[in-house]
Amino acid sequence: MWTVGIDIGSVATKVVLLNQTEMYRIVCPTGWSPRQAGREAYQELLARSGCAAEEVRYVVATGYGRVSLDFADRSVTEISCHARGAHYLSAGVSLVIDIGGQDSKVIRVDGSGRVEDFIMNDKCAAGTGRFLQVMANALGCEVDELGAMTEDAEPVKINSMCTVFAESEVVGLLAEGVPKERIVQGLHQSIARRVAGMAARMGKPPKVVFTGGVARNEGVCRALEREMGAPVEVPDLCQYAGAIGAALIGRDRVS
Ligand code: ADP
Repeated sequence: MWTVGIDIGSVATKVVLLNQTEMYRIVCPTGWSPRQAGREAYQELLARSGCAAEEVRYVVATGYGRVSLDFADRSVTEISCHARGAHYLSAGVSLVIDIGGQDSKVIRVDGSGRVEDFIMNDKCAAGTGRFLQVMANALGCEVDELGAMTEDAEPVKINSMCTVFAESEVVGLLAEGVPKERIVQGLHQSIARRVAGMAARMGKPPKVVFTGGVARNEGVCRALEREMGAPVEVPDLCQYAGAIGAALIGRDRVS
């Protein structure tokens, strides 16, 4: 029995098609039309998997663009979907830290992947993927290159909390000749401090799992571990946690 989770994020649309034994997945830019992105990514995934649309029993939409998806059977908040997906990817998780394109969230989950409490920052780009995208642009590199740049660099302190001012600060640091690695390390530290501050309000959970596209940046992960003083696990499919959770919630509805 196939079910589908479609996570239409501000930056990336993720679709997961799964049954008891197999999983297919796809990630595409959301672009200007969340509805079109969701529809096209779904069609593409069906074509790749060889699964016919009639074989899909249930489609759950999540993410900021979920309401635009007119063919989904149900829409579910990304908080619930991320909690469920993280629980599937890493059994025993007690705190999920998700950093996506335009928001960051900290979710406390119970032993079965249900949400106990959460804090979300979706008001400010600092502490999100957007912050790193702006900074990568200022540094003349791609966002997926940042993680590997920082290995042993001493972080330079980024004083501005605001993304716009922090970007000016980065431009100024480059002009002073500060090495890029130190600046990037400072940027990772800045994001990690912000998010670790949110996490601290949830107590001291035993098992922390980091999801969302920004979890693919190992520099942010290491900085989070330093700030939290605890190990942080990153599942291979970290960016798909919301879509996987949505597909599993869909499975619950029909089984
Ligand atoms: P959303 O659901 O809001 O669209 P995602 O969880 O899909 O966000 O994450 C998107 C963000 O992930 C991008 O803004 C980008 O900063 C970051 N990202 C995506 N791929 C990578 C990568 N390979 N390395 C580092 N960061 C990445």
